Amino acid sequence: MALQFFNTLTRRKEEFYTIHPGEVRMYCCGPTVYDFAHIGNFRAYVFTDVLRRYLQYKGYKVTQILNVTDVDDRTIGGSQKQGIPLGEYTEKYKQAFFEDLSSLNIKPADVYPEATAHITDMEALVKSLMDKGHAYENKGSIYFRISSFPEYGKLSHMDISGLKAGARVAADEYEKEEVADFALWKGWDEKDGDVFWETEVGKGRPGWHIECSAMSMKYLGKHFDIHTGGVDLIFPHHENEIAQSQAATGEKFVNFWLHNEHLMVEGKRMGKRFGNYYTLRDLLNKGYNPIAIRYLLLATHHRQQLNFTFDGLEASKNALQRLYDFVDNLKIVKEGKNNPQVDEIISKTTQGFEDALDDDLNVSEALGVVFNLVKDINRLVEDKNISKADAEKVLNLMNGFDSVLGILKREELVLDEQISKLIERRSKAREDKDFKLADQIRKDLEAKGIILEDTPQGIKWKRKM
Ligand code: AMP
Ligand code: ZN
Repeated sequence: MALQFFNTLTRRKEEFYTIHPGEVRMYCCGPTVYDFAHIGNFRAYVFTDVLRRYLQYKGYKVTQILNVTDVDDRTIGGSQKQGIPLGEYTEKYKQAFFEDLSSLNIKPADVYPEATAHITDMEALVKSLMDKGHAYENKGSIYFRISSFPEYGKLSHMDISGLKAGARVAADEYEKEEVADFALWKGWDEKDGDVFWETEVGKGRPGWHIECSAMSMKYLGKHFDIHTGGVDLIFPHHENEIAQSQAATGEKFVNFWLHNEHLMVEGKRMGKRFGNYYTLRDLLNKGYNPIAIRYLLLATHHRQQLNFTFDGLEASKNALQRLYDFVDNLKIVKEGKNNPQVDEIISKTTQGFEDALDDDLNVSEALGVVFNLVKDINRLVEDKNISKADAEKVLNLMNGFDSVLGILKREELVLDEQISKLIERRSKAREDKDFKLADQIRKDLEAKGIILEDTPQGIKWKRKM
């Protein structure tokens, strides 16, 4: 099967192709750094991460850009409330965002452009839209004239025939019913305080939509392959990005628009404004493993809504533990006879895994294929019907899959001396048949988060999840 993605622009699955052979250029709308991101936001970034990793698995060279929105109503409001400069205010949340990305094992993007560092690029884009008659000035702000761009509404499949001439909206986020000329550049007013830039398009600051057009085209070219984001961004944000970019360049902007559905809480989208959210930090402070959270976020197909529950998080933790146990057991398989069945299982599994992901990145199906592998191989391990070489082949396969899933990474457990001494003492106690002492040491280790298992192959340990 050829790789295909559901494209929001055409509303169907399309075979994937690239503009430059073997190379994918992709852009993902990043966070507004006015607060800690919640795990709903991270569903969007985990999705983009798996997409990017799979493209790399398929052999593409990928350039990925994820922007940081560090100037808008919310960041300005937050910094004013705290009485600190905008840059100081956003820096804290920007750093927290990068830490969170790394906790979730999300691969770094190639560039994380910040809006405030690209004002000149935005200014140039706004100027060119003015020159071409797609934008006009009103009371110091500059608006995009929707009626000048007949394709407006194509991405969100919106009928704009009822558009009122001259209707304008200055807010970055607005409702569908408000479809109207939107602000490219916001003229300074006193509530922005000291946040403004003196430019050829006036004194003020950029609108949110123009940021993404300017930064994506700067790093990826006027026409690039993939643009991602949550479904809430389809309108107005992505619709406006297309209008601004294509009106300015006269070229197609993006070939594939991929959107992730929302993380929900009791039927409602998780969101700051609904107060129904958990930040990643909230969950880590409750003792949850970040990789179990990653697992939860990636295991449901991106075009399906995912209801967040703590039971679901527990289930992810257990699924992950099964995979860890599987890998650990394979590592201790002793010499044995090669089993030709293993090769068959490997080839069937590889095919199944790739077929699932080729089909619009169906991660849940791909995980199903991995768990069938676990079942099939565990049976052979139990029957001692697998060689060390076979086990290594399966481990290699798992590593390959993990280059896409990114879930097998565990904190390297460097046993400190004290713990390894305890393990040794316990072995000695068992040899001496001092089971009381052995049990006590097991309990002490458990209190330190180390779980021991006595297996026919000897003692194994793992860290509590
Ligand atoms: P924002 O910082 O609000 O612009 O959001 C950053 C990213 O998170 C965007 O791609 C949003 O579409 C996405 N997003 C926001 N809320 C959710 C949610 N509950 N589930 C999934 N993605 C979301
Ligand atoms: Zn954007």
